[in-house]
Amino acid sequence: MPIDFTITKEQEELKAAVREFGEKYIAPKVVEFEEKGMIPPDIVQGLAKLGVFGLLFPEKYDGLGLDPITAGLILEEIVRADIECSLAVAFLVHTSWGYIAYRHGSEEFRDAVIRKAARGDLWIGIATTEPGAGSDLVSMTSSARRDGKEYVVSGEKAFISGVREAREKGVWFKEGGGHNTLVYTDKSKGHRGMTFFFIPLTDERITIRFEKELGRRGWSWGSFVMNDVRVPEYYRIGEEGRGFYIAMEGFDHARAYIALTCAVAGKRALEIALDYIKQRRAFGAPIATFQGIQFQLADHWANLDAAYALALKALWAVKMEEEGKIERFEVTKIAAEAKSFATRVAKAALDDALRWMGAYGYTLENPVAIAWKAIKSYDLAEGSLDIMRVIVAREVIGREWLTKVTPKRT
Ligand SMILES: Cc1cc2nc3c(=O)[nH]c(=O)nc-3n(C[C@H](O)[C@H](O)[C@H](O)COP(=O)(O)OP(=O)(O)OC[C@H]3O[C@@H](n4cnc5c(N)ncnc54)[C@H](O)[C@@H]3O)c2cc1C
Repeated sequence: MPIDFTITKEQEELKAAVREFGEKYIAPKVVEFEEKGMIPPDIVQGLAKLGVFGLLFPEKYDGLGLDPITAGLILEEIVRADIECSLAVAFLVHTSWGYIAYRHGSEEFRDAVIRKAARGDLWIGIATTEPGAGSDLVSMTSSARRDGKEYVVSGEKAFISGVREAREKGVWFKEGGGHNTLVYTDKSKGHRGMTFFFIPLTDERITIRFEKELGRRGWSWGSFVMNDVRVPEYYRIGEEGRGFYIAMEGFDHARAYIALTCAVAGKRALEIALDYIKQRRAFGAPIATFQGIQFQLADHWANLDAAYALALKALWAVKMEEEGKIERFEVTKIAAEAKSFATRVAKAALDDALRWMGAYGYTLENPVAIAWKAIKSYDLAEGSLDIMRVIVAREVIGREWLTKVTPKRT
């Protein structure tokens, strides 16, 4: 009987510590995160003290050496406290893309950067999107050229999460942070000419611009322009020309956490709405007693349970691939299924939960409304809903059935 949903004692202890922190310090501030457009630094530092920014990094590099499912269980507690989802973004981006940087980075890079990331002193983000290239990454234009023991990087990355938190050293993170940034080292080779670099946003040659985002406003979002930014050779993550493949690996990982975020935020929103409609009365009875609403609840609950299970399967697949037990394309398919399904069922649940709460539901004081705006971002972030379907269909139908413009797996 190899499939097992049991939580270990160690996992439960970690969850309990994050839950306690979340209930005490995070949940009461969620509306404030959204209104002020920032997460108070002491909350991020408190989570760092609990070790949550070092879960997957090996102990040798000051991390806790845990696995993606355990990270998912911790994410669950973070999302239950913060359905505004900004802390989920901070956590899941760093956890997945930080791990990718560790996995493909050199020993020198691990010593210089990963150690700080594992201690929660430095945040790692992801920057693939550009003003003219999102789903179709081959259209990007940023580039790097080698100059002795350095690379010189230029270009613009757009719609990037965490630009302020990475830029402002000593506020959220002691050392600020940087982004795994995908650029061309040889444009003539198309996706085989792409390379990843860690670009510290603390570099003064980088300029930043902020976007006004719809939701999850607590973690910043914007663009950064690199004008001949110099980074040491060891900031290259993986070999030259491997960037696209490493990016696909990171997306799989991040999408699994996003699926979990959606499943948990959807459930939490239903619980909050239920508390409200048990009190709120119409036609002489609490609204929660109406069967029309109970049937909606039952369907959403089942869908979200399914989404949760699929998200865990995707995290399991990430681990299995790392251990060489399944192929990369299987992970890619499961993670895309999980993200696409969880985003859709969470949006549907939030939409109904918001309506159950009547006019109050539509106010910005209502955490369910705040969560509704946040979950909408997952139609796009870390790969759009359509691209998730393109991936699943590609893997199910077979590559020979792809149209000319459908992205191919190589
Ligand atoms: C809140 C938020 C946070 C983000 N954070 C980051 C970040 O930290 N780092 C980063 O690099 N990027 C980030 N992004 C950008 C995100 O990765 C892109 O939005 C996404 O990849 C889609 O690219 P695009 O916005 O350029 O849309 P486009 O590629 O222009 O697509 C527009 C629409 O066309 C659809 N479409 C495109 N191709 C196809 C196709 N073949 N078949 C069917 N439909 C298709 C898409 O699904 C989409 O709905 C973030 C986005 C959001 C909204």
